[in-house]
Formats: sequence, C-alpha cells, structure tokens
Amino acid sequence: MIDLHLHTTVSDGRSTPEQLARRVAAAGIRVCALTDHDTIGGLAAMRAAAEPLGVRVIAGIEITAVHDSLDVHMLGYFFDPDDEELATFLAAQREDRVRRVSEMLDKLADMGIVLHRERLLKRAAKTAGKAIGRPAIAKLLVSHGHARDIADAFDRFISAGRPAFVARRGVTPADVIKVVGRAGGIVSFAHPGKLGLDKLIAPLAAQGLAAIEAFHPDHDAAAVEKYRTMARELGLAVSGGSDYHGPGSGRAEALGQVTLPTEAFEMLSSRRLKTPGSTP
Ligand code: AMP
Ligand code: ZN
Ligand code: FE
Ligand code: FE
Repeated sequence: MIDLHLHTTVSDGRSTPEQLARRVAAAGIRVCALTDHDTIGGLAAMRAAAEPLGVRVIAGIEITAVHDSLDVHMLGYFFDPDDEELATFLAAQREDRVRRVSEMLDKLADMGIVLHRERLLKRAAKTAGKAIGRPAIAKLLVSHGHARDIADAFDRFISAGRPAFVARRGVTPADVIKVVGRAGGIVSFAHPGKLGLDKLIAPLAAQGLAAIEAFHPDHDAAAVEKYRTMARELGLAVSGGSDYHGPGSGRAEALGQVTLPTEAFEMLSSRRLKTPGSTP
C-alpha cells in the first residue's frame, strides 16, 4: 500500500516520526511520503526509522499557499531535500506561521480569551524545523474550556470566516509550483473537495501543476471519481493518502484505509522526469 499524505509532531501531527514509521509499517504501507506543513524537518528521522521496517519514504511536503485570503494546500514530492532555495522558502513560510498564530492569539485576547503565548511558541521552538499551526491554538482552547474539542474550536474561533481567523500571507499556488519545480520536485493540488476552489486547477495545470490529490479521507467515492476524471481530462496524475495526524487530532483516522493505487503512483513518479530541471 502507498500513502503519500502523513503528518508528524514536526508540524501539527500527534505522532513523532519514529512512532509514525512503526504505525505505517504495521498498517502494511510500503511506500509513503511525510507531508508535514511547510517543513521537511521530520524526513531524516522518518527515513531512519522506516527504512529498516521495509518502508520507502519519498521526499514530501504540504505547503500552504494563499488565494483571495484563503489557504490552498499544495503537496510537493520527489524534490531534493537539500535544495537551499527551498529551505529558505520554507523558513519564511514557518515565520509567517508564527506571525499568524500570534495575531490569532491577539484576536482571541480581544474577545477576552487569554492563552499562554510564550509557552506555546517556546514549546514550538524546541523542535528543529517545527511548523506551528492553528491546531496548537485549538488544543489550548480545548484545555482552557473554551471549546468542546478540536473541531469545535476551529468551527467557533479559527476557521476561515470565524472571529479569530487571520489569513496567511505570501505565496500563490503558482509560486509553490515554481519553487518545488526548481528543487526537482512536482506538485499535487491537495484535497480539492475540502476547498471549493476547483476553478484554480485548470489554470494551474497550464502553469506546471503535476497532479490532483484524488484519494483523501474527506473525499467520498463520487469526489474521488470526479477528481480522477478531472485529472485525466487535464493530463494530470493523481496522488492520495490518509492525511494522518494521529490519535485525538480531531481528524478522521484513515491510515491504511485511504491509499494510492500502484498504477497511479507510477504515473505520478513519471511526471517527475518530465519536470524541467529535475534529476532522475
Ligand atoms: P494551519 O496550518 O495553521 O492553517 O492549520 C491547518 C490545519 O489544521 C489543517 O492542516 C488540519 O490539520 C487542521 N484543521 C483544519 N481544520 C480543522 C478542523 N475543523 N478540525 C480539526 N483540525 C482542523
Ligand atoms: Zn495538519
Ligand atoms: Fe491539508
Ligand atoms: Fe495534510
């Protein structure tokens, strides 16, 4: 089985790379990609833990781009993890995460909800390449009794359009395709069924988008079929995975249940060779 969408504690997942490697192997997955948000800080540890268990780990990432103040998640694969331009770009992305989380805490404070900023940011600073995100705020909202659970915290306070929401700044989806491409990788448009921005896909295909993430736990069978068809029509590959964030993350647990068919992975891999500037 193949799973190209996984998160660890290096971003907002609940499993360390070592724990995730064991879970992935136990689920019967043989090829996977760690796709932490805006960081590849977990890749080396994941590889070291997974490869002895017979699991191949390809380079992966989930980068947040912005369109009309809305987050657009873009998955990158097969890039050179030592690429310096990519590293600089990701460091800037993580800085904007700190800025955004701080501004959300300010908004919550204005509403009379005061959360412990220093503790949150200091804890984050302990992990190399750590990408902080809204789930850390959601967790505090729950532990301070302002929300029932993580999903409730998002729905009431920090989802797009809610009172403490602050938009990300910076890169467009097209920028992400360029920077990942220059590092030798390809980009897949993440979980379009969650976004309602399907209209972005065809123009991005003309700008070098390689794939659409058709297989995702938030896509029902009809959505999977819709995005496979869209990919075929646009000449794109498809990607997929469980978007595993670990127990208690407020997300569906689809490890070993949502996977990418082998033929689809082969087509995705072949796209890499067509990317200008990539090394085979
Ligand atoms: P951020 O990267 O800071 O924009 O936070 C987005 C992340 O929060 C997503 O990748 C999910 O892991 C998580 N998330 C978003 N919406 C929800 C929700 N309604 N319930 C639980 N987790 C969510
Ligand atoms: Zn996440
Ligand atoms: Fe995502
Ligand atoms: Fe994800």
